[in-house]
Amino acid sequence: MRGQGRLTVLLILDRDGVLNAESPERYVRRPAQWRWLPGSLVALGVFQEAGWRLAVATNQSGVGRGLMTGAALDAVHARMSAEAAARGVHFAAIRACPHAPWAGCTCRKPRPGLLLGLLDLLGERPEAALLIGDAIRDLTAARAAGVRAALVRTGKGATCEPEARQQGLATAGVFDDLLAASRALAVARRGAPGFG
Ligand SMILES: [Zn+2]
Repeated sequence: MRGQGRLTVLLILDRDGVLNAESPERYVRRPAQWRWLPGSLVALGVFQEAGWRLAVATNQSGVGRGLMTGAALDAVHARMSAEAAARGVHFAAIRACPHAPWAGCTCRKPRPGLLLGLLDLLGERPEAALLIGDAIRDLTAARAAGVRAALVRTGKGATCEPEARQQGLATAGVFDDLLAASRALAVARRGAPGFG
């Protein structure tokens, strides 16, 4: 019955192209380059208000490529967290893969390590989680982790939509942006059967 499901579920968000605009420099290397996408902070509030925990899982190979430091990445996330907190939005965890693609790590999406680490850290089951991303590698990582996934058309999303549909990766749907996803998924998810 609606409203009797488990109220706390986990939303795993990709960062660039979902929460914030991708940087013209390819990587967001400094806090000053952080730009929220329109409606994304509001969307986080919608999910949180509906009982979701919020987590971020992001590939940041700029660190492994030597283009930015881990400290700079932390500073970017400090700004992101502070601006979210100013709107009452709290991230339960923020996890980044800092490795270069050639490093062969297990955390860089499309591998599932980053997502599995978040589930373990936060004590959530894959079935209780949902990923929202803008790239095939986000959705592929979700599938490998046993997590449902939605694609947003911001960032790389519009370009990826045909392939995502062809591969059946967007198991929770395709939405124009995070705000549209929140309106469709935040409340529907809360009362959905199978999440008790
Ligand atoms: Zn990694």
